[in-house]
Formats: sequence, structure tokens, C-alpha cells
Amino acid sequence: MLYTSTRDSSVRVNSAQAITQGISPDGGLHLPVSIPQISADDIERLAALDYKGRAKAILPLYLTDFSREEIDDCVDGAYVDGKFSSEKIAPVVGLENGVNILELWKGPTCAFKDIALQLLPHLLTVSAKKAAGGKKIVILVATSGDTGKAALEGFRDVPGTKITVFYPNDGVSPMQKLQMTTQEGGNVSVCAINGNFDDAQNGVKAIFTDKGANERLAAHGMMFSSANSINWGRLVPQIVYYISAYCDLLAEGKIKNGDLINIVVPTGNFGNILAACYAREMGLPVNKLICASNKNKVLTDFIETGVYDRRREFFVTSSPSMDILISSNLERLLFLLGGCDDARVKAWMKSLSENGYYDVGDGIKAKINSLFAAGYCDDEGTKALIKNVFESRKYLCDTHTAVAAAVYYKYRAQTCDKTPTVIASTASPYKFCASVLDALSPSARAGLDEFQMLEALKRLTGVPCPPRLEELRGKKVRFTEVCDIGGMEQAVMKAVVD
Ligand SMILES: *Cc1c(COP(=O)(O)O)cnc(C)c1O
Repeated sequence: MLYTSTRDSSVRVNSAQAITQGISPDGGLHLPVSIPQISADDIERLAALDYKGRAKAILPLYLTDFSREEIDDCVDGAYVDGKFSSEKIAPVVGLENGVNILELWKGPTCAFKDIALQLLPHLLTVSAKKAAGGKKIVILVATSGDTGKAALEGFRDVPGTKITVFYPNDGVSPMQKLQMTTQEGGNVSVCAINGNFDDAQNGVKAIFTDKGANERLAAHGMMFSSANSINWGRLVPQIVYYISAYCDLLAEGKIKNGDLINIVVPTGNFGNILAACYAREMGLPVNKLICASNKNKVLTDFIETGVYDRRREFFVTSSPSMDILISSNLERLLFLLGGCDDARVKAWMKSLSENGYYDVGDGIKAKINSLFAAGYCDDEGTKALIKNVFESRKYLCDTHTAVAAAVYYKYRAQTCDKTPTVIASTASPYKFCASVLDALSPSARAGLDEFQMLEALKRLTGVPCPPRLEELRGKKVRFTEVCDIGGMEQAVMKAVVD
């Protein structure tokens, strides 16, 4: 299996090279040259396995330059007993007849990113051995909250790696800040910056491409790499859980092998839903992929019109991990549906950065509409959904999952499509206590701090809180450093080579 680039289709690298590089040198994103297929018989066999067994069977289809033992070790290391609070890793819960929730937040940071970010460090260290002469990998992350913490947990004490995370000092929630500043591990560092998320992101990009910084690292036998969702190594673990969800429905007798399902995904950077699209292209019986957005509905509009237009107001919503106007992984879908036409993808991306929009035209739009449905839900609708679903089904969901569920119910009412459906649930409701409490009982959070809100939500709903979030209260703060934008490179060097 070889990988090419969305902006240069003559590129051919293996998976270890793609994962080590993170992004193609031409600025494009890596994706496999062909898509491996799974048959109904394969699905039958996978259904008899546990999550780790399924991962060990699916990952080799993409990582053909890894040995069996290497993949087994990576999977066993990522999903080792006790790391996830459910032994099923990604359990499927029935909400009502024909509607299922795929709970992707059983990992250490209580968000779906754990499933990929627990595996990525293992894939990356094996890849670096194969493709980078065993250099030590230095991961730099700029985060607005969830990615930073999930990456820290994933890379902590992984031999051969170091990780530095930058976050905007005034731009993350109190719970998110505490999650990062109390991070344990001998190879981690966390630094706040005087600036916003874009400043952090630009600062990190500047360090990645700084010749001096790269040379200093090389002199110490190290190299930079990236842990965000442009790295193919973050997408491939996500394909597994969609296939696994289908297997679970099959094993429970909720569907017959070959039956179609719908998949609904609360979407930001388009990584998670793209993984579902890959599962479909591999042969998983999927009817519609339903792309759910919050008030920042640039994707809803794109799927409806074929015009991607970021020239619009940016809203801060109660589902902050989806507050995004540039969905980077869409580039992979356009390459896939557009017949691998790198010149066209390049032109669209140029138009996006220079003019703020691009138009893919009727042909691609028709293809997108045959695969995807789309919708959006604002904060009022999110609150109403959380309250309704809790009162009618005793199921408590977070704001991101609520956006997806609300979009699904609207879709079903409009289309009368009764296909059995899986809704991806991307975070624990306890990660967004303030908004969830607000939805259930608007007066309940007045005057409460983060941990008091957590207690209040427990009392109100009787739903258990993930211990990892409760435990934060007693954790020692390890990282208090705050630097200016200009001091970021020095902070990295101090943390990794001094
Ligand atoms: C990152 C995130 C998303 C968005 O996922 P993408 O892969 O960027 O589309 C949705 N929900 C939560 C809770 C997240 O952390």
C-alpha cells in the first residue's frame, strides 16, 4: 500500500514515511493510492473478535510496511487493559429502536481523540525506526483544548518521544487548563502563550519550518512531527471503530450482515467523518453519512451548494470543538471524489486561502450528495436535544453529540429514512458540565465552580462521572510557564534538548 499527496499525485511514500512526515512536503495531505476492500465474510469474522482483534485485522490493510508483530504491539500498547473505562473501547449503546450511540469517549481524556491519539505514538515510533533512522520524535501541538490533552496523554512516557503543547492562556476552559497543567509524564511539557489559538498555531508552524531549530534538533538525534488530524496516522485508527460498530450491531442481532446503516458525525475538521467515508469505501454497508455542524455551518452550506465559503462570521458556541471555518480534511475527500486531480485540488485550496472560497462544480457536488447528507443545529437546539433525550430516554449526552442527534432527527423527519443509524458521540457530558447543566436546569449552575458543577450534574442525573475528570481536583499543577509568541522556540528547546 502506497500513499500519494492531494497536491501532487506523483508522490509515492509508504505508511511509515507518511506518518513520520505528518504532511507532504508539497503542502498536501497523504492518502492511500487505493482503498482496501472488506467482504461480508470478513465482517462476519471481525464480528467474532474484540476491539483489539478488529484493529489488528483492519490496520494491516493500510500499514502494509508494518510487520504483524509491530501492529499487534502498537494495538496492545494503545488499548492496554485499564486505559479505557470500557473494555469494548468504543461501545455501542441503543438509544431507541434503530438509533444507536457509538460512545467514543471512554479513553483517558474523555473525548474521541483518545482512540487515535493513544495509538498514534506507537505507530509513530515504529515509523520513525523504519523511515527516519530511529530519530527521537519531538511532537509540537498548538491546541484550543481537547487535542492538546489527548496528545499529552497519548505520548506521555512513550520511549523515543517528547511532546510540547502550547495553549492560549485565556482561551481554554478551566477544566481543559487543569487537564493540561497537571499532566504527568517525564517527556511532556506544557506552556501557555500570551496570544490566541491562531498565534499558537502560527508559532508552532514557524518552529516546524525554522532551519536553525531543525538543525539543533538533528544534532541531538531528534526531529519534529505533528499529532494533528492532517497526519494519516490519526485517521486510520478511526476507520476501525466504524467497522467495529457495524460488527457490534451484527453480533447483537440488531442488523443482518449486508444491511445498510447511516452514520451521523458531529464535525469540525472533517477528520472523523472522513474515516467513516473510508469505512464505506472499503465496503462497509453504509447508506448516508450525515455531517452535523453547529452554527458555524460552513460544511452544511458546502454540501448543499458545492461552494465552500469561509467569508462569514465566526461564532463561539457550546460545542467549541466544532467551532471551525476551515475543515482541513475536506481536501482528502475532494481528491478522492475528483478522480485524483491534484491540480484542481491545489487550485481550490489556493482560492480558499486567497479569496476565502471555492466552488467544486456540479459533478463533484452530485457525488458528494450521493454519499452525504448535512445539517446544523444552534445552541438553543442543542440544549433542547440534551433535555429531551435525557427526559425521554434517560441518556445524557454532551453538546457535540447533541448537535449530531438533533441533525439526525431533523434528517429523519424530512426524509422518512428509517435505515438503522449510528450516531458518533465524541465527548463525555462531564467535559462540558456548564452547558449540559444549563440545558437540563438553567438555574442549577449559578455561582458554581467547575467541580461544584460536576457534583451538581451527578446529583441531577445520577449518571456516573468519569473518575479521570473528578480526580483532577486533587492533582498538583506542574506547568505554570507563560511565554510570549517570540519565546515559543526557546521554550521548546529548553524542554527538549537542554
Ligand atoms: C475534535 C472534536 C470534534 C470534531 O472532530 P473532527 O474530526 O475535527 O471533525 C467533535 N467533537 C469533539 C468533542 C471533538 O473533540
